[in-house]
Amino acid sequence: MSFTLPSLPYAKDALEPHIDAKTMEIHHGKHHAGYTSKLNDAIEGTPMEGKSIEDILDNLDMNNKAVRNNGGGFYNHSLFWSVMSPNGGGTPSGALADAINDTFGSFDSFKDTFANAAKTQFGSGWAWLCVHKGGKLDVCGTPNQDNPLMPGVGCGGTPILGIDVWEHAYYLNYQNRRPDYVEAFFNVINWDEVSSRYEANK
Ligand code: MN
Repeated sequence: MSFTLPSLPYAKDALEPHIDAKTMEIHHGKHHAGYTSKLNDAIEGTPMEGKSIEDILDNLDMNNKAVRNNGGGFYNHSLFWSVMSPNGGGTPSGALADAINDTFGSFDSFKDTFANAAKTQFGSGWAWLCVHKGGKLDVCGTPNQDNPLMPGVGCGGTPILGIDVWEHAYYLNYQNRRPDYVEAFFNVINWDEVSSRYEANK
């Protein structure tokens, strides 16, 4: 049993003008596909084979660079596609909205915190909104393909929203203007999916 590249839940051009079709095509079809096949190569014949990706990352030996980089890349991008939607944007509702208000004071304050983590992550990496058991929220950044499921990485907890700030995620359309890409991301966030992940992991 090996990992398979998940299909995009929408057309490659569905997130335009915020994320362009060419970026989506290369990002999903080349980058994510590459992490997936390299992850399979790295776990073949090891005790990790057959385990869930969450189980693999929770128990990861951080010195295992092949699984750290490619397992992280597989998980991170699978989450990333799912938390975007052509019908996204706006603000969350329900229990997630309450938790955001409790933790950050307001949605706008959360947005500033999350966007700042994304804009200031040095080099390649990700920014995350995570939930801890009990429902507390946290924002953090992680380098490369690390994520907060990994031992000792970021804010801990379970990621429920993430933004890829590797240049491959935005450079074709935004060149060096990462802040513009981060602002545009808020127009495509699938808050229904983020809420589902919050409910499942709080
Ligand atoms: Mn990426």
